[in-house]
Amino acid sequence: MFESVLIANRGEIACRIIRTAQALGMRTIAVHSQADADALFVQMADEAWEIGPAPASESYLRIDKVIDVALKSGAQCIHPGYGFLSERAEFAEACAENGIAFIGPPASAIRAMGLKDAAKALAQKAGVPVVPGYHGSKQDPDFLRQKAYEIGYPVLIKAVAGGGGKGMKRVDKATEFDDALASAMREAQASFGDPRVLVEKYVLSPRHVEIQIFADQHGNVVHLNERDCSLQRRHQKVIEEAPAPGMTPEMREAMGKAAVEAARAVGYVGAGTVEFIADGREGLRPDRFYFMEMNTRLQVEHPVTEAVTGLDLVALQFRVAHGETLPFTQEEVRLEGHAVEARLYAEDPEKGFLPSTGRLWALELPEDFGIRVDSGVEAGDEVSPFYDPMIAKIIARGADRDEALDRLSRALGETLVAGPRTNAAFLKKLVDAQAFRDGAFDTGFIDQNLEELGAVERPLDPIAVAAGALALVRRDHDRNALAGSVAVGDLPGPWWASDGFQLVGQRQTGLPLMVDGARVEGALTWDAQGPAFELPGAQSPPGAVEASVVEAGETMLVLREGRQTRVAIHDPTTVDLEHLDAGGLIKAPMHGKLVALFVETGQSVEKGQRVAVVEAMKMEHVLTAPLDGVIGEIAAAIGDQVGEGARITVVLEEGDTA
Ligand code: ADP
Repeated sequence: MFESVLIANRGEIACRIIRTAQALGMRTIAVHSQADADALFVQMADEAWEIGPAPASESYLRIDKVIDVALKSGAQCIHPGYGFLSERAEFAEACAENGIAFIGPPASAIRAMGLKDAAKALAQKAGVPVVPGYHGSKQDPDFLRQKAYEIGYPVLIKAVAGGGGKGMKRVDKATEFDDALASAMREAQASFGDPRVLVEKYVLSPRHVEIQIFADQHGNVVHLNERDCSLQRRHQKVIEEAPAPGMTPEMREAMGKAAVEAARAVGYVGAGTVEFIADGREGLRPDRFYFMEMNTRLQVEHPVTEAVTGLDLVALQFRVAHGETLPFTQEEVRLEGHAVEARLYAEDPEKGFLPSTGRLWALELPEDFGIRVDSGVEAGDEVSPFYDPMIAKIIARGADRDEALDRLSRALGETLVAGPRTNAAFLKKLVDAQAFRDGAFDTGFIDQNLEELGAVERPLDPIAVAAGALALVRRDHDRNALAGSVAVGDLPGPWWASDGFQLVGQRQTGLPLMVDGARVEGALTWDAQGPAFELPGAQSPPGAVEASVVEAGETMLVLREGRQTRVAIHDPTTVDLEHLDAGGLIKAPMHGKLVALFVETGQSVEKGQRVAVVEAMKMEHVLTAPLDGVIGEIAAAIGDQVGEGARITVVLEEGDTA
């Protein structure tokens, strides 16, 4: 076995790889950006080397710097994890040129599968079914629109160099084609430096079913069964499971065989995943699945396969890279029980799943029988805007699907994250959704059920506000008690005082609060039962409130039913930019780059009209007019970097002058 490994990645996957590498007796070498100097994976590794500033393009994506550290530290091999350099053929080549083993396939296989159009042609040649569409090189909009017409709507435009759902647009009718094409090409250019796209038939009732394959250097290729990753949002996986609900042995065999053929066609070595899309209108059928692409690396969701096969895929990667023969045959691959993975993200489901970064004031992840948690952060860490905002993967296993889902549901209920908002409550609702339990779902399930899943803006939770208000009052009391005073700061009311205060009748005092950035006038009441908090129009909260309250500086973070409410005393001298009630202001939702502006100063706009596009974390965020009016001064130009909350422009109401 190798004696040392450099992990060219960060976060949970770096931790995951380090764990196995250390168990195999290897010296582990981490590389990290300045932003990750204190990260968990840096602490876990035997050695850590800084390779540059926070932006990935200046650190984790720098092939020269990674190779330099590998040479200086004497790393025998490099594990690229997923994302970053994992599917860059030049990186695999640079490793080879420097005598370092790359834990992955040969550069030629990465290249062959790297572009979706070439990969499709290859798969087709190997006899693997592909989605009907245009995969050629012509990029003229008129020509592509004609092709879309021939294929028949709905169609899907995909970046040839795509990944992670970026540069992908579904188009339902011809009139929408040009806009969608321009946007897909822009996103593709920004994310991959390559604007080329392909157009294919949008498969109806699509199920995403993928096959994990493994190949050694001696011509053995096996598959490790399927994973169903149909629960997606914006073409990104949210929940993954194995086996796929409704899978039949015939279908599994047909898909497994196709995946192995695709791998053989490119001389594959190591772990890889062949992704298929299945037309699920009549359940899974062996004649209705199509090759989409092959990912030439370890997948985020590999733990569900580990759970049902009993294999350590990372250990297996090291073994085959070291020249060992696969230690089992296809017939010996196990498939036992059921496993499900949920991706816990720092994002706000109530605000279109916008990433929600910042400090993790509290983090409690479940540890339980049948539960595995893969995470790369700890309480006190920052979720940085520079990288993928995943907090953890929670993987549940059970004897059958229901048992696995019940365990996952319970684990999600026990998950507590304070600071960034998360999708924990959303995931729990998803796992509990009856249609999902029944196996009656496709890739559109989440989008079709946003409201039931709680992913819409919801009104204030008065009970959470009350819990936060009471916590603030108690804290002020404690502070003042420490300072030797019995007054409750600026808060009125002597009920905490021990100097003979009479519990007679009920008293009430107004208390100005900032709740999620907006001003709320509440009233503090107290009677013989103790203090309570009332909001206008809301029921008085019950005496004992079921909520967790985490102190975050001057703010109380209240977690109730998986939802976070931020409560602070209203201070007229500060504004909470993040939650400022914007009026006609149009602000950057997060740190990013202004990539399109559709308006000019003085132009009339209608509420909902597109105004600008900010690209952040490689996704395009379309900013729309919050009200009818006229565009005021424009504060940014195309190509500008804009900070979170930065003003881009303002929509003035007709007759307004400002
Ligand atoms: P990426 O490489 O960007 O992740 P994929 O080609 O893997 O893109 O597709 C991502 C997801 O998009 C799939 O899991 C599936 O849900 C959806 N998708 C892709 N192709 C089609 C299609 N032809 N019809 C319907 N849905 C599709």
